[in-house]
This record gives sequence, structure tokens and C-alpha cells, in this order.
Amino acid sequence: MSKKDLISIIVPCYNEEESLPLFYAETGTVLQQMSQVDYEFVFVDDGSSDGTRSVMKDLSEKDEKVRYVVFSRNFGKEAAMYAGLKEACGDYSVIMDADLQHPPALLPEMYETVKSGDCDCCGGLRMTRQGDGFLRSFFSKAFYKISKGLTHMDMADGHGDFRMMRRAVVDAILEMKEYNRYMKGLFSFVGFETKWIAYEGVERAMGSTKWNFKSLFAYAFEGILSFSTAPLKAAGMIGMLLFIIAIVFMGVNLVQSIWVPGAVSSLDVILFVVLLLSSLQMLFLYILGAYLSKDYLENKRRPIYIVKEKSA
Ligand code: UDP
Ligand code: MG
Repeated sequence: MSKKDLISIIVPCYNEEESLPLFYAETGTVLQQMSQVDYEFVFVDDGSSDGTRSVMKDLSEKDEKVRYVVFSRNFGKEAAMYAGLKEACGDYSVIMDADLQHPPALLPEMYETVKSGDCDCCGGLRMTRQGDGFLRSFFSKAFYKISKGLTHMDMADGHGDFRMMRRAVVDAILEMKEYNRYMKGLFSFVGFETKWIAYEGVERAMGSTKWNFKSLFAYAFEGILSFSTAPLKAAGMIGMLLFIIAIVFMGVNLVQSIWVPGAVSSLDVILFVVLLLSSLQMLFLYILGAYLSKDYLENKRRPIYIVKEKSA
């Protein structure tokens, strides 16, 4: 009999002591029913401050299919996913959130789809943003539209990190050792054929989301900076445009004040233009600085994460 396929379930965890046992139980049940495969769990503790680490340890003591990695501090979900992929031994790997927002019930169909051979990846496509709140949904959608336009990469709304990949895809992602990581962009960059299975978004099982507006904005900005230099070009173009507008404005004002003295206070207009220009300058200096700081961190070749402890 030929060897069974091994599926690695990679789970980045940050303060998930409540969700993790539920996740393990529910996902384990689904995997046990898939008698045609073997499986392993790779839990990554991304510097949790609650009891996540001891939950992982307990699970791994009871079940040899559970392995874990503990980071020395919080390095972020991107780093945790990278570490998990690196640890994974599977012929197929799938990244899942610990809060059961990625339904384990999709796993058999994902496996069948990738196994059938006509694609390399099978991802969960989230159809609704249940549990996300109106504002967050609105900004997420706007972000995906903007980033698609700017980066020319396929990063649609609903395409998350929840996908099952063949070994070749995992290896390609691991090849990209950049420090500033943005997984959706990396998936898009490596290419390969991806099929999507739709599912309804659900609220997280336990605990609370680790994202707030500030971190989501930073994440979105990171995504655009990592995969596009369009904002830099935009800086130049808008600068040029404003320069022309300012000149025309001043010209018109001068001409007007010759015919109708005092009709427009040219000082007001100049002040307005100066303010506008300097605010835009500041904005684009910020963008320039953001790119430079990325390069700075990248050049240091710092590790993406630091391991404090690992299962045997
Ligand atoms: N996560 C992580 N490191 C972080 C933040 C989040 O490993 O710094 C994990 C978290 O434990 C969860 C997954 O990433 O398993 C998704 O996080 P969350 O559910 O908070 O995000 P949301 O579903 O609200 O986008
Ligand atoms: Mg979640």
C-alpha cells in the first residue's frame, strides 16, 4: 500500500488559550474522518501572554501529532505563519486561525481539490464578513480595491491565509526570506494555480480579535509598500501637478488684481497653496521614509522570528 499523504495544519496563536482546545478538538475530528491521510498540527505561539503555551504543551504531550514552536516575543502573525510553514513536514500544508473562523469542515474538500491535480492551492473564500463590524468591512473592501489597483496583484477581498498548498508552493514561499512579510502578496507573487471554495464568515469562537484599527491600517500599508512602488511615483506626479496648479493660480491672481484691484487677496491664495504644498510634501516624505525604513530593516538581515522553545 502506498504511503498516506501527510497534511500539516499550521496555526499561528496569539493569546488563544480559550480557542485552542476547541480548535484542536473540532479540527481533529474532521481530520480523523479523513482516513486517507495522516496529519500533524504545528502550533506557533507568537509571544502570548496568557496560557497558550501550556495548552500547546499539554496537547503535544497527549497527542504525538501535535508539535509546537514558541517565540521569544510577539513577532506578528506573518512571522508565525512563516515559522509554521518552515516546521511543517506535510505533503500538503494549510494555515488556519485558532479561533475557528476558518471552518475545518472545508478541509476534506480542499484536500480533494488539490489532490485531484488540476491546481496547486485550494483556498477558502470568505463570502460574508460576519463578526467584522461595518467600518472594518468597509475599510477592508476599500483596501483590497486600492491594493489591487496599485500592485496589479490578485489580492481580492475574502482571499485569506486559509489555504491548502502543495509542498512546492510551501517551498516557494519559504524561499522568500524577506523581513517585511505580507502573506497575501507572497501567495500572489509565487503564482501557482489556486481554486477557491466559498464559505460563510463566522464570529470567532472564543477570545477577541488581535487587530485594532491602528494595526489593520499598518498591515494594509505594509501590504502596499511591500508590493508596489506606485505611492512613490504618485508623489512625483502629484507634486508636479500641484506645482503647475500653483503657478496657474498665481498667474490668474496676478492678472485679476490688475483689472479689479483687491478682488482676490492673492496673499490668501498663496497661503493656501503653500499650505497645501507643504502638507503634501510632509505626506510624501512620510511615504519615502516608510520605504527607506523597510529597506533599512531588510538590509540588517534580521531573523523573521526567534524561537524560545520547541517540541521535541
Ligand atoms: N495572531 C498571531 N499573532 C498576532 C496576531 C494574531 O499569531 O500578532 C493569530 C491569532 O491568534 C489568530 C490569527 O492570527 O489565530 C488571526 O487573528 P485574529 O483572529 O485576531 O484576526 P481576525 O480574524 O480578527 O482578522
Ligand atoms: Mg479571527
